[in-house]
Amino acid sequence: MAKPVLLSVDDDSDVLRAIERDLRSQYGAEYRVMGSDSAEQALDILKQLKMRNDSVALLLADQRMPQMDGVQFLQEAMRIYPDAKRALLTAYADTTAAISAINEASINYFFLKPWDPPSERLYPQLDDMLDDWLASYRPKFEGIRVLGTRWSPRCYELRDFLARNHVPYRWIDIELNANDPETKQLLEALGPEATNLPVVLFPDGTKLLESLPAQVAEKVGLRTRAQTSFYHLAIVGGGPAGLAAAVYGASEGLSTVMIEREAPGGQAGMSSRIENYLGFPSGLSGRDLARRAVVQAQRFGVEILAPQEVTGVRTENSYRILKLADGNEISCHALMISTGVQWRRLEAPGIDRLQGAGVYYGGGATEALSCKGEIVYVVGGANSAGQAAMNFAKYADRVYILVRGDSLSSTMSKYLIDQIQQTPNIELWTHASVVEVHGDLHLEQVSVHCSDTNKIERVPATAMFIFIGALPRTDWLGDLVERDERGFILTGPDLLRNGARPKGWSLDRDPFLLETNVPGIFAVGDVRHGSVKRVASGVGEGSVAVQFIHQYLSKV
Ligand SMILES: Cc1cc2nc3c(=O)[nH]c(=O)nc-3n(C[C@H](O)[C@H](O)[C@H](O)COP(=O)(O)OP(=O)(O)OC[C@H]3O[C@@H](n4cnc5c(N)ncnc54)[C@H](O)[C@@H]3O)c2cc1C
Repeated sequence: MAKPVLLSVDDDSDVLRAIERDLRSQYGAEYRVMGSDSAEQALDILKQLKMRNDSVALLLADQRMPQMDGVQFLQEAMRIYPDAKRALLTAYADTTAAISAINEASINYFFLKPWDPPSERLYPQLDDMLDDWLASYRPKFEGIRVLGTRWSPRCYELRDFLARNHVPYRWIDIELNANDPETKQLLEALGPEATNLPVVLFPDGTKLLESLPAQVAEKVGLRTRAQTSFYHLAIVGGGPAGLAAAVYGASEGLSTVMIEREAPGGQAGMSSRIENYLGFPSGLSGRDLARRAVVQAQRFGVEILAPQEVTGVRTENSYRILKLADGNEISCHALMISTGVQWRRLEAPGIDRLQGAGVYYGGGATEALSCKGEIVYVVGGANSAGQAAMNFAKYADRVYILVRGDSLSSTMSKYLIDQIQQTPNIELWTHASVVEVHGDLHLEQVSVHCSDTNKIERVPATAMFIFIGALPRTDWLGDLVERDERGFILTGPDLLRNGARPKGWSLDRDPFLLETNVPGIFAVGDVRHGSVKRVASGVGEGSVAVQFIHQYLSKV
């Protein structure tokens, strides 16, 4: 933790050195002693310290300085660090001015030059002031701070990205905290840059304006570039299926890289509570599951590139070559596709415009807390919608689940239906479909068509979360890998037509159970045609496929 700062300012360099020396010898163990020979420079230092979220305990300024005298400096400095103790260094002739400064400019003390011996004429008074300061000192948050507004889609995207990648950060909503003194001081220190939201402030004092996830990823050390250009096994997609394949592949000696577009954990990472995963009787959050799996994979030496997207694939003899969004390529002998599915979009006027500003696809874990005391709409009747409703019900005043059918029984697990029925602030709205959303800068109302009455109801809303089924995004595979009419990848027996092997198949064996029509390219998890869309089945497929990969590699 950074030590609180003691800052002295004096244009006379001998005096400055002397005061710094005395401060350091007495307080250096607990405080960082800094000095400046001009008031202007000292104010710049204070602004930088504010950006880094450092604490300042004491400001000690010479009264007679050119351009800005000590009292003026301390008054300016007070705007940045109002809680710091303030003292003047004065010559005997200035005592009257110093005394009036104490009364008029809220200065805590003045010291006469020279202050020898410091044990009598400096330290006792400073001890007193610092004890006083320490009594109300609360150590500052040391991680990343993100400044933005709740209704900005860019801010939402960044916060969601940080949360899903387990990067700790403090969110400062500048609208909600407009009257908070600390936020005001921060905005003042930022000046006009404070309008370039989201602003990310790093503990080393640097900042990013209008920050994008990829820029922040690079800054916090998330790896997006591969260490080498060839791997035994490359895995595209870091959901449960990809993570399981990574753990099994690397633990069995394969050099393994896993490439993930957003954050390891995939859809499971958005789940607030997975209750049906073996070995966790009281359930666990998807985020926890993802975090554990990432640690496990890294322990076995898996290289994880995230955020990084695979945009194309081709084959050259026994090599399978992946094209990445940053233009680089990675080659491998065995390729695993575990790219899962993506939320289907809800087609209704206003949805695209307000996405990220009250309208969200998926869990929106970062939004749950912001929904305190509000009315939340959850669209969809599957388990994912049920879990989300349970999660929002902890914070929101009321949660409405909108479904087109007349009940949840055919789409949701019974344990979740029971939980929902026992939660008084969740209400099921059947025969309901969203036909329009309204709001200028953020969601304000939702129009719902009620098929039983054939009427449209327009209701107030601040947040709507959409969970209406999902589709694979497999376009990046071009014509190389066979898919069904919805885009799900065909594997193993699904590729055999009347017993005939797929077109172009060159080996004298059938495709393995989880192998595609291209030897050495496998598909597992939700992206696979006919898969069971569950965490455990994805994990099972990812693990089993590694056995087939070994058999394939033994003949490459
Ligand atoms: C909110 C919610 C709650 C759920 N709750 C449960 C539950 O309680 N129990 C249960 O068993 N199941 C649950 N599920 C379903 C379960 O999460 C999925 O079945 C499982 O995550 C599928 O795993 P997967 O690895 O196949 O794919 P996914 O989890 O979809 O992961 C695929 C990953 O691939 C990445 N990707 C896609 N394209 C690319 C590309 N071109 N380049 C790089 N990366 C790419 C994606 O970003 C994603 O991270 C839930 C799902 C959701 C959304």
